[in-house]
Amino acid sequence: MPHLRHTRDVDRIVADRVIVFDLGASGQRLTLAHSVVQHLEAYRQLTARHREAGGQLFAVFSGSDVVISEATGPRRSDRRTRTSYHPDREVEQREIRERHSQGLHYVGDWHTHPSPTPMPSSLDYLSMRDSVRASEHQLNGFVLIVVGTLSAPDGLHVSVNDGSRAFVVRSSQVVPG
Ligand SMILES: [Zn+2]
Repeated sequence: MPHLRHTRDVDRIVADRVIVFDLGASGQRLTLAHSVVQHLEAYRQLTARHREAGGQLFAVFSGSDVVISEATGPRRSDRRTRTSYHPDREVEQREIRERHSQGLHYVGDWHTHPSPTPMPSSLDYLSMRDSVRASEHQLNGFVLIVVGTLSAPDGLHVSVNDGSRAFVVRSSQVVPG
């Protein structure tokens, strides 16, 4: 991924096909770059052979826009089954350090579920809450994306967790390319 420090780069991403989510009262908007949607969709569990996959979400900030411009994972060293996903924590920390030096901020996690319109499990919510409390970030909350088998945006569950509660955000806009 190229470095994305400038508003011009954000403009370029937003001009491409994107999905936009309104983050409620905060006035912040969350945008998924087309390349990110493509990355997530590539790991949809469309057959019984597909194992859960996941990774981290990195964003650039531009005014009140949070633009997720990169999704990492899964990695070879993650532990994955049909119904579970355990990321390699060391690689995760390395990803965060490397991207931070490029102006990319770690804003949350993604993983797949083998259902059409997925809902996070109670364990998913708990581990996200722990992540929020353990990390420093500029977003009002921490993003969790669960990727189901339907195409985006229908197959994507997106929620934001502020450390005490989680709220589901709906896509307000799909910008056609
Ligand atoms: Zn899950």
